[in-house]
Amino acid sequence: MKTDIKELIKKQNLVIAGPCSVETNGQLLRTAFELKETGKVDILRAGIWKPRTNPGHFEGIGTKGLAWLLDVKKQTGLPTAVEVATAKHVEDALSFETDVLWIGARTSVNPFSVQEIAEALKGTDTTVLIKNPVNADLKLWIGAIERLQKVGINSIGLIHRGFTSYGSTEYRNEPIWQIPIEMKRLFPDIPLICDPSHICGKRDTLLSVAQKSIDLAYNGLMIESHYDPSIALTDKEQQVSTIELVNLLNSIKWKNSSSNEDNFKLNLEKLRLEIDTIDQKILSLLSDRMKIAKNIGEIKKQNNVTVLQSNRWNDILESTINKAKNLNLNDEFVKSYMEAIHIESIRIQNVVE
Ligand code: PEP
Ligand code: MN
Repeated sequence: MKTDIKELIKKQNLVIAGPCSVETNGQLLRTAFELKETGKVDILRAGIWKPRTNPGHFEGIGTKGLAWLLDVKKQTGLPTAVEVATAKHVEDALSFETDVLWIGARTSVNPFSVQEIAEALKGTDTTVLIKNPVNADLKLWIGAIERLQKVGINSIGLIHRGFTSYGSTEYRNEPIWQIPIEMKRLFPDIPLICDPSHICGKRDTLLSVAQKSIDLAYNGLMIESHYDPSIALTDKEQQVSTIELVNLLNSIKWKNSSSNEDNFKLNLEKLRLEIDTIDQKILSLLSDRMKIAKNIGEIKKQNNVTVLQSNRWNDILESTINKAKNLNLNDEFVKSYMEAIHIESIRIQNVVE
């Protein structure tokens, strides 16, 4: 029976795995058969054209790898996914019956490229996954979804692979979790998949990032794997062997998006009501606080005094952070909360007539 790809990508706990790049027919066959054998992989990923940061490195096997991929699909029954960056890639990949196409992070960042891909996809009914753009720009990611939807592509998924940042951090690409969380809020029906491989850039942190995404209700994972990562031509530090992939998947505590257990539902409902009541109180206190800020703005204006009073702001921040410590609140959180209040308070004082 032919797999229904559109249903498959919506599956809870979807697993996409496979090599960063197709290198040889043998490498692809061996990796794919091992993955099939695990019984844990839903889709085989494989890079055919590789966007490399610097020239002079392996740039992918190119179109001839698509024929190998089709052959592997027929032999293993695994649906296939390939990265596309141009209209020609789309045409080639589709002509070799690739099941899923994905737009890479260095392509989703460029509206010209996304538009070119969208036009090549017009009228094809293809399933397309969109990686987040390399820079932390929510609107650009949304724009890519819109470009595809405008040409009638409705089977779409999102892949969170982290964002470029300057200088070294513990990640290859900073996850900035609030961006994918916001995407999930805006597009609740579009599956969200985490690619811990490109977030981490190394193997030892894959589990914690994968687990975090599952805790955040992502629909699945895309993980780079190679039968022997030590000889991989691309991303060898982050690819996992098949056995490492199985261990990783077995170590994850998979979550349900909900539960029908009566006690759970009752407790959740009760706690949510308490949260709603507190949120309501916080809102009305905030409103009172801003009214006072406005009055302060008026008297500052009447007395020709600057809106910003650095010493006062410093005192507020320090004393709030100190008090917060005794209340078991995180310093960073309280600092950004107070900063948000202060910015709004300054805005209100500046609009005093
Ligand atoms: C990849 O998946 O191998 C890849 C190139 O990823 P990204 O677009 O996330 O850099
Ligand atoms: Mn890669």
